[in-house]
Amino acid sequence: MNNNEIVSELENIVGEQFVSDKPEETFLYHYDFITAEPEGKCDIVIMPKTAEEVQEIVKIANKFKIPLVPWVSGINFGSTATPLKGGIVVDLRRLNRVLEVNEDDMYALIEGGTTWAGLQAYLGKNHPNLMAGVTFSPPGTGVVASCLCYGMFNLGMLGGTGAEFINGLEVVLGSGDLVRVGSCSLSDYWYGRQPLPDLAGLFIGWEGSTGIVTKAAIKLWPKLPFRKDFVLMGNTFDMGIPVLLKLSKAGLGICDIFVFSYNWIQAAIGAYEKKVPLNPLKDNLPVFISGVTTQAYTEKQHEAQCEAIETISKEGGLTEAPQGISLDILPYQAWGAWNFSRGGGGEWIGSYCSTREIIKYYKLARETALKHGHTSQFYSRLLFGGHYCVSRFNINFNKNDPEEIESARIILKEIHEEVSSLDGVVMYKAPKWAHEVYEEKIYPATYELMKKIKNLLDPNKVMNPGHGWGD
Ligand SMILES: Cc1cc2nc3c(=O)[nH]c(=O)nc-3n(C[C@H](O)[C@H](O)[C@H](O)COP(=O)(O)OP(=O)(O)OC[C@H]3O[C@@H](n4cnc5c(N)ncnc54)[C@H](O)[C@@H]3O)c2cc1C
Repeated sequence: MNNNEIVSELENIVGEQFVSDKPEETFLYHYDFITAEPEGKCDIVIMPKTAEEVQEIVKIANKFKIPLVPWVSGINFGSTATPLKGGIVVDLRRLNRVLEVNEDDMYALIEGGTTWAGLQAYLGKNHPNLMAGVTFSPPGTGVVASCLCYGMFNLGMLGGTGAEFINGLEVVLGSGDLVRVGSCSLSDYWYGRQPLPDLAGLFIGWEGSTGIVTKAAIKLWPKLPFRKDFVLMGNTFDMGIPVLLKLSKAGLGICDIFVFSYNWIQAAIGAYEKKVPLNPLKDNLPVFISGVTTQAYTEKQHEAQCEAIETISKEGGLTEAPQGISLDILPYQAWGAWNFSRGGGGEWIGSYCSTREIIKYYKLARETALKHGHTSQFYSRLLFGGHYCVSRFNINFNKNDPEEIESARIILKEIHEEVSSLDGVVMYKAPKWAHEVYEEKIYPATYELMKKIKNLLDPNKVMNPGHGWGD
């Protein structure tokens, strides 16, 4: 490949300042969040400012048949923004404007590289009565990126996964065409995907391998005046999970329900893994720590909601943590917190699954981690009124120790294999190795359909090769 020719064509689109093939800049984008193997390679990075520029870049990638990888901060945990086959990384962070907030239909129209920090700051300043669901990820990570890869937020009980927060999209396809899907394809409103054929699915769960989203409308929610964050603790998951499932179905104005195992909390606050109890169950520590957030419009309504939450949790044997703990701190620097531990690295794998399987998932993953001398760092969130859930498991490692990194990789894969024995456990942000397994396993006609879709939207296979479906 002649980089000089491509770089010069790219410079004509965005200007010299926003293209680079210098190793001291491109190395930032090789980044592998440990699940990809081997590490990726970014040959050229470009930072477009408009959808038209994105279109021109896609045309050049097609002309030279060179890979294109959409990228915001590249720390999505599945390494799905790692350029596995080299090529151009499209760093979208200049596409960062909040274009409109519709208070009546409660959505924000944002550009494809908008970060959580950007959206939160804008809403806080201009629309304090509305809130976006936010992640536990660092403030500089991407909103649209998270929605497209089924990320999940602190409003997951209200709205489901990030994908369900998407009202409509503007996308530059791998072929270079620019399309709009949702109500925005027929009007100026971006209120939803209904009642047209739901084409947003052509871009959700595809890990940037069918097109580059340049605009997205994201659902917002009313911020009500009365709010409480419960921290409920119990000795075991067998005891705690049934309480959370009951709460999720009790209609109590609940925005979020999640559970952390004791050791995940310790990892998030920066405790050194080798200095905390490997098996806190043996020391009678509360292994089950959950968060339940509720909000209400009036004080009386709020009191009634809180009273019902307290009653259900007490009946189930859970204890409420002392007042004053607020979960309203998002997005926060969990990534930074990990760095307090020695050589602090952390990586997790996660799956969507039936709420019936949470306890089994937890136990299988825990046993595997303990077998390898790692603490049990489990996290689960109930979603969309308790219709399903996401479960995840984290392994810490020393980022400066290649052997520890390799070992973490192996353990994460082993955990995935163990929990995959449960029916309906499907990994999200699946790295390449997990995709390969799914492609073997998935209903064959479904996979054939995926390949046809991929071919239609990205005929030269330039979009994020090695990731997504039907490659
Ligand atoms: C400590 C920590 C905590 C986290 N907690 C959460 C959490 O609670 N919930 C959660 O959802 N996530 C979480 N994440 C994961 C992730 O960082 C977020 O989901 C984030 O918002 C995704 O942004 P990113 O910048 O990392 O995406 P990237 O890694 O840059 O991109 C993710 C994927 O989307 C594709 N992509 C990006 N932008 C576009 C676009 N405009 N069009 C098409 N494809 C695109 C990329 O090619 C890639 O496949 C966490 C990450 C960390 C490090």
